Amino acid sequence: MRKPIIAGNWKMNKTISEAVSLVNSLKGLVVNTTDVEIIVAPSYISLSAVADAIKGSNIKLSAQDMYWEKNGAFTGEISPLMLKDTGCQFVIIGHSERRLYFAETNETVNKKVKSAHEYSIRPIMCVGEKLEEREAGTTKDIIKDHVINGLSGLTEEQMLATVIAYEPVWAIGTGKTATPDQAQEVHGFIRELISGIYSPSIADSVIIQYGGSVKPDNIAELMAKPDIDGGLIGGASLDAESFAKIVNYKA
Ligand code: PEP
Repeated sequence: MRKPIIAGNWKMNKTISEAVSLVNSLKGLVVNTTDVEIIVAPSYISLSAVADAIKGSNIKLSAQDMYWEKNGAFTGEISPLMLKDTGCQFVIIGHSERRLYFAETNETVNKKVKSAHEYSIRPIMCVGEKLEEREAGTTKDIIKDHVINGLSGLTEEQMLATVIAYEPVWAIGTGKTATPDQAQEVHGFIRELISGIYSPSIADSVIIQYGGSVKPDNIAELMAKPDIDGGLIGGASLDAESFAKIVNYKA
């Protein structure tokens, strides 16, 4: 049985004090949640303060990106060593906003995914097609390209520790969610790809999250699909009550 992982991607939102206040409110609302792994991904600058605030709670910390080198002359970048030191257990890699605005490619995604594993940080690797790609009927080609190239060279153990987030770009921040059937079709396809590269049993254990306008009122129908194992939540994670409702979708 795969334990669902629901992660809040706060993107470039919240000052340090706002981030601490948000996570403090969230803590109280999810204190009894044991059947879902809960993650928050604040901006780099709030990581330490949020790490302190979640000590002893059931909330885990993720960064939103990282560079692949350990240290050196890479002005403005953050390394996996720094993330580990701050208490990050997860890092989001290859979010579509990074692919779109910051020239992230499958090659840089793969370097980051491998580097995260070297520091025992679990990457949440994002994959997903744009609207024009879906309309052109190339969704599976794009997903295959992101999955195969993003995961290239991972050991079986690293594959098992990798989380994949399927995020159709046209559904992110737009209010348009993929229907549960559309999402399931791609999740099933991703699992088949992993099965082909590794094995059916490894594919069966990998967590595949859905992301794209997930809200308290659509999470349950998405989670009811057999290959959807959690969510990567943007907008709705910026409010403690709405994120807690998503995390507690079974309640
Ligand atoms: C995201 O940023 O990963 C995301 C899914 O955003 P939203 O939930 O706002 O669509």
